[in-house]
Amino acid sequence: MKAYSELSREELMELREQLLAAYEEKKALGLNLDMSRGKPSPTQLGVSVGLMDVINSDSDMKSECGIDCRNYGCLDGIPEVKRLMAEMMGTTEDHIFIGGNASLTLMFDTVSRAYTHGIMGETPWCKLDKVKFLCPVPGYDRHFAITEHFGIEMINIPMSETGPDMDMVEELVNSDPTVKGIWCVPKYSNPQGICYSDETVRRFANLRPAAKDFRIFWDNAYVIHHLYEDNQVEILDIIGECEKAGNPDMVFEFASTSKVSFPGSGVSAMATSHANLEDAKKHYTIQTIGNDKVNQLRHARYFKNLDGLKEHMKKHADFMRPKFETTLKVLEEELDGLGIGSWIKPLGGYFISFDAMEGCAKAIVAKCKEAGVILTGAGATFPYHNDPKDSNIRIAPSFPTPEEMHQATEIFVLCVKLVSVQKLLE
Ligand code: PLP
Repeated sequence: MKAYSELSREELMELREQLLAAYEEKKALGLNLDMSRGKPSPTQLGVSVGLMDVINSDSDMKSECGIDCRNYGCLDGIPEVKRLMAEMMGTTEDHIFIGGNASLTLMFDTVSRAYTHGIMGETPWCKLDKVKFLCPVPGYDRHFAITEHFGIEMINIPMSETGPDMDMVEELVNSDPTVKGIWCVPKYSNPQGICYSDETVRRFANLRPAAKDFRIFWDNAYVIHHLYEDNQVEILDIIGECEKAGNPDMVFEFASTSKVSFPGSGVSAMATSHANLEDAKKHYTIQTIGNDKVNQLRHARYFKNLDGLKEHMKKHADFMRPKFETTLKVLEEELDGLGIGSWIKPLGGYFISFDAMEGCAKAIVAKCKEAGVILTGAGATFPYHNDPKDSNIRIAPSFPTPEEMHQATEIFVLCVKLVSVQKLLE
């Protein structure tokens, strides 16, 4: 098949007729498929069902430090779960603060503290005329929602296959004191599945920010979420690299077991320098007497250590891989060489990112919806829901079955073709 841009007007018009007929056939099936939700399927949740059995009414409820997990106390988490999360995040337990069931709360709290009270004695962001955050795009909508919520101005930073455009990051961070933070998903990024190269991590660690209270928000949400046993990416430990570069306080790292155990009741963690931890704990001690230690104990006893986590994640990968592979196969078979879309084959994470021809994403999402396939809203992967090229679409293969993913992707590619032909005919 020739690239669409090489087709004559007549050829495009004929193609449009064929595609419309195929589209109407698919529409008539009355399907109801959802490719929008980045969450595990119900069967995949079953992988972690043993977690419910490690603690019962006969269990010894003492942590290894002697504290009774049913009672108050232990603001920053019990030692065995700190060790577990530190191993998962590739750091040491002295850097860890254990949160509640969601890392997003820790991220929100961190921005909120900076906004109301300031970081380590610096001026609270609410008292400044302007506060800016850098946002590698496409990115995670809930990150952008947090900074938008606090009225922080967001600046798009393009992504490449090695991470964010570091020339732009260095230029902005090192020269502009109103730039206070950057959102990063360094491993199997949401939505592109990109992993930051060693050079990118080192350039981050060696930033020389104009603002003393500039912080990297390093959301390592997919740190152990590999799809393949024999093709796994490891990235450098940002906390260690920042220490080496003389910037020990520059990073807040986040992770959780949301997509390891249960997204509704996992364990979250923040890893950062001792100084940042002390600063954060001054606030947390007002906010709470401690997070859910029964759940912490359950996780520590169930997973035990990094090997336990890795073994467990293989079972998740067995569920996820066929869905990703089915989706990618349909994309390749139907769209390769047509010049109307591009995508990256991820080795982990939860998403596939698709870039349509400029000006087509919204129309593709709408066409899919009309045929019973729900996608994440176009624009959601950009700050302010504004994709300047109207091109990026996030595909979430995790929730449907592989068969449903196959059907949904067939409709998706049909819509991509139809909308692209329409665009070329305009
Ligand atoms: N960070 C990223 C990059 C995500 O994609 C998600 C969920 O999709 C989260 C964080 C949510 O994590 P948690 O459930 O720990 O709040």
